Amino acid sequence: MKIQDCRSGQAVVQKESGKNATIRRIYGSSGEVELSFENGTTARIHVRLIEPSSEAADAEVDSGPQRPCPQCAAKMPVTATICPACGFAYGVKTPAPSRNWALILTSVVLIGAAAYAVWKYVLAGKGP
Ligand SMILES: [Zn+2]
Repeated sequence: MKIQDCRSGQAVVQKESGKNATIRRIYGSSGEVELSFENGTTARIHVRLIEPSSEAADAEVDSGPQRPCPQCAAKMPVTATICPACGFAYGVKTPAPSRNWALILTSVVLIGAAAYAVWKYVLAGKGP
């Protein structure tokens, strides 16, 4: 199978041994995946050496539009913000600078208002 078809948690079969395994990690750059076998052992092998298990075909009903992860090329739903394979945060917007400016501006206004109140109070108290 192809690395693009691999997904974390997907049930696969190792062609050589016929063993069932689950994909734990996907190494998109090397085309390898880390498999977790039913007996608890793990192995890192090339995706050529595995194929999707028949059970996975049934489970693959989560249709809907998908896109490849920009980091590991694993398929992920377009609605997902975090890649299920590598954890890449997709489309997460960094806080807009204007928000920080609004915070600073609010602080300045509050501090200014407080300073003005103190100044006015002190001035009134020390008035001639
Ligand atoms: Zn990814």
